[in-house]
Amino acid sequence: MPLRGEKIRTGSLHGLGAHSPVARREFDRSSPVALDVDEASRRLVIERVGRRCEYCLVDEDSAGFPHQIDRIISRKHGGSSGIGNLAYACVLCNRYKGSDIASIDRSGNPIRFFDPRRDVWDEHFKLNGPSSNR
Ligand SMILES: [Zn+2]
Repeated sequence: MPLRGEKIRTGSLHGLGAHSPVARREFDRSSPVALDVDEASRRLVIERVGRRCEYCLVDEDSAGFPHQIDRIISRKHGGSSGIGNLAYACVLCNRYKGSDIASIDRSGNPIRFFDPRRDVWDEHFKLNGPSSNR
């Protein structure tokens, strides 16, 4: 882990290509992940982000599969189920991220994953294309 005050870079969990729509999701369907997160917390997370993945920004209606509640810091790394540690993630981002919190970049240096509670999305990513609806 980086030391306090050390500048660290964040990386993309995967490319920012559009997800193919396969099926629509009803608002109240719950994620199969993070089952111990209560319904009130789930709703707060979803309402906070407007049903977009907090990592790649894909809208849930365009994702093809229901988004999931993600623990930004997984339980195995000491993360809680508190609202401040929860993010709304599409299936692809959540699966790529898994329970990891960092990876190794091409030069062999540790690189922390983007944290939607600590990081500003626009400072780390850029969307290419005709519209992002941001
Ligand atoms: Zn995503």
